[in-house]
Amino acid sequence: MSRILIAGGGILGLTAAWEALQRDSGTSVVVLEKESSVATHQTGRNSGVIHSGLYYQPGSMKAETCRSGKGLLEAFCQDHRVAMDRCGKVVVATDESELPRLATLEQRATANGVESRRIDLEELRSLEPHVAGIAALHVPETGIVDYLGVCKTLQRLIEATGRGTVRTGVEVSAFEPMPDGKSVKAHLADGSNLEGTHAVNCAGLHCDRLARRSGASPTARIVPFRGEYFRLVPDAEHLVRNLIYPVPAPRFPFLGVHFTRMVHGGIECGPNAVFALAREGYTWGDISARDLASAFSWPGTWRLFARHWKTGLGETRRSLSRAAFVKALQRLVPEIRQEHLIRIPAGVRAQALTRDGALLDDFALESQGPILHVLNAPSPAATASFAIARHILDRLNGRLLA
Ligand SMILES: Cc1cc2nc3c(=O)[nH]c(=O)nc-3n(C[C@H](O)[C@H](O)[C@H](O)COP(=O)(O)OP(=O)(O)OC[C@H]3O[C@@H](n4cnc5c(N)ncnc54)[C@H](O)[C@@H]3O)c2cc1C
Repeated sequence: MSRILIAGGGILGLTAAWEALQRDSGTSVVVLEKESSVATHQTGRNSGVIHSGLYYQPGSMKAETCRSGKGLLEAFCQDHRVAMDRCGKVVVATDESELPRLATLEQRATANGVESRRIDLEELRSLEPHVAGIAALHVPETGIVDYLGVCKTLQRLIEATGRGTVRTGVEVSAFEPMPDGKSVKAHLADGSNLEGTHAVNCAGLHCDRLARRSGASPTARIVPFRGEYFRLVPDAEHLVRNLIYPVPAPRFPFLGVHFTRMVHGGIECGPNAVFALAREGYTWGDISARDLASAFSWPGTWRLFARHWKTGLGETRRSLSRAAFVKALQRLVPEIRQEHLIRIPAGVRAQALTRDGALLDDFALESQGPILHVLNAPSPAATASFAIARHILDRLNGRLLA
């Protein structure tokens, strides 16, 4: 009988556990989560969007799993009554210089099999009456979802099988492959340990550290980028109906603040992307000397900063000045005012950065004997999670059957 130990109770750890239990009635799973509840970090602090798969390099794991994962996620939400809405989004060009990029995006949508359509300004106004733009794409299949609800439901279902446990408040210090090559030990922070036949590292912001402590040698390091959000006051909510996005920068598709209707009500604006001073650095006051040392001892961080300092400064300015943040939002919805915004909790992205300063674009999984490490799972990994879970289990599969 296989026993899989999973570090991390975010959406990837939980979907991997659920997939394992569904595949084989002889498998048991233990999810080990260091916080007191699931989905405390990236998953519980994200934008709540089910991405269509518009932006990603055709043929990449991101493009493939976003498309297939979206379908699996939607089906899961329907089956288990988790709040979700396929509300669609508009991508809006606000000046001439963005038109070629909008055209490229349209081609990419076609290459990735995403339904999208160029709409005229009249149709744009009928969808989003307060938007300013000169051209737009409508992507009807983009949606919104309650990711925390997905995770709580997964936790309940995993435990209801009788073969799965989600243990919170338990930190994994390292996984140790056993000399027999057939088993693995999880060393826990309280000094105890657990044995399993396989292990999966889904530790998000700490995945590279856990991998290194387990004897793997990841070629990229996690560098944290905070995304800050505001919520519109109720009086301004009428300015946005669904999702309004700018045309993304080709190299940094996650940059560019946007408007998102939340599935339980309300409109959020953001996120920006600023270098966080701690891996769990949700405000400028959260500073970790250890995390800073980790980031600045990595040559890739210096190279990224040297190359993109202007972009970084712009993002930092929008973090420190509400006026600058509002100015960015006004490009899309000119009626937005500073007094319409209420600050709400931020999220931090776990972004893998290579030694030469490149942001690792695609999802990254790495096998180490009986251990599978997830070493890069930024957006749209929540959308893609059920499909990534299949990849994780496929990678473990040869061993599960052995
Ligand atoms: C601001 C922001 C907006 C985003 N918006 C979207 C979006 O709209 N749509 C989308 O698809 N994606 C979005 N993403 C990306 C998405 O949220 C992440 O890709 C996804 O949540 C990653 O899930 P995860 O399980 O890998 O990580 P996490 O949710 O971070 O989970 C990792 C878990 O591991 C635990 N952990 C860490 N170390 C240990 C240890 N040693 N032992 C035990 N437990 C440990 C942590 O406490 C945490 O709970 C966004 C991300 C951010 C930050």
